[in-house]
Amino acid sequence: MSERIPVGILGATGTVGQEFIAGLADHPWFEVTWIGASERSAGKSYADATAWRLPAQRPEIIAGMTVQRCEPDGDVPNLVFSGLDSSVAGEVERTFAEAGHTVVSNARNYRMETDVPLLIPEINADHLALLDVQGRERGWPGRIVTNPNCATMVLTLALAPLRPFHPARVTVSTLQAVSGAGYPGVASLDITGNVLPHIRGEEDKMETETQKILGTLNGGAVSPHPVVVSATTTRVPVLNGHMMLMSVDFDSSPSEPELIDAFRSFAGRPQQEGLPTAPDCPVHYTGDPDRPQPRLDVDRERGMAVTVGRLRRCRVFDWKFVALGHNTVRGAAGAAILNAEMMRVDGLMGQRAS
Ligand code: NAP
Repeated sequence: MSERIPVGILGATGTVGQEFIAGLADHPWFEVTWIGASERSAGKSYADATAWRLPAQRPEIIAGMTVQRCEPDGDVPNLVFSGLDSSVAGEVERTFAEAGHTVVSNARNYRMETDVPLLIPEINADHLALLDVQGRERGWPGRIVTNPNCATMVLTLALAPLRPFHPARVTVSTLQAVSGAGYPGVASLDITGNVLPHIRGEEDKMETETQKILGTLNGGAVSPHPVVVSATTTRVPVLNGHMMLMSVDFDSSPSEPELIDAFRSFAGRPQQEGLPTAPDCPVHYTGDPDRPQPRLDVDRERGMAVTVGRLRRCRVFDWKFVALGHNTVRGAAGAAILNAEMMRVDGLMGQRAS
């Protein structure tokens, strides 16, 4: 009998769902025993329901599993990861939490709710204390924890090491990969040899989620970080990897060596605890003038590390630099798996005591 914790995946057939399957294939703590998706896929084998699009081989054991409807019943494990489309995630995830499940979600629906952790455990593992508030206020025997939007993830991991210098204002322009739009996503005739200067809803998420993630937990609520973010988001013909072109104004005057040291020495609870999916260094700083590049740097530390480079003085704000991270790994499935690992270490699995 397996000693690993059984887990389910809501939206297992999608882009993020496939990254969940790949990321959990040889996981030392978790074992996928249940997969769910839409009515279109339910009742089919995973192999028949899914066009597998990852270079990693599809695990044979998953290929033969039958895709289920996204409804909580006796066979669904307590812990479920969600890669559901946001049009349905709100209702489905709530139903699972009401039925006692721990839902670790990628979807946007609950991220900004005041009693829902928007978690990057290197930055704000203490925000898991919001789950006490969530349990009291909603009365759910289960719980919902979220990870940020994929572009916010890269932005925030690049900013978090700089918190000691009091970042006050940030402008960020993004070059975002097509995989961020799911499958089939953006039409090839729109994106080939082109740049799309608008991603619906993305700029608002980056501007608000960042303040919540970097915020401080005060008596059962998060006080948002005062940093003001102004974002412009674009889609570019890159397969994987969201790049951020950032300028940051500080309320102090950090030097270049201080900033580089802050990036390189940044670590948090996942590193202290040695969580299986944690990168050794969440932020890699490179002094190479032509890096980071999506093709060369996106897979650092199995896609779980963000790469920062091109640090230089800004003539408008204090400093500017470039950051890059893997949108479907660190920005989605890998982030959620890391969140679940953090919750397990903190004893936040299973139904609440009534
Ligand atoms: P996707 O490829 O379109 O996959 C969506 C999944 O949701 C599929 O498994 C689909 O099942 C399922 N689904 C759709 N309608 C459903 C319904 N009515 N009932 C049950 N399941 C349903 O999308 P994605 O790119 O993986 O994104 C999934 C979520 O993660 C979204 O909320 C997205 O915003 C978020 N996210 C994505 C990224 C990224 O880089 N792609 C990054 C961070 C967060 P069928 O195959 O049966 O239709």
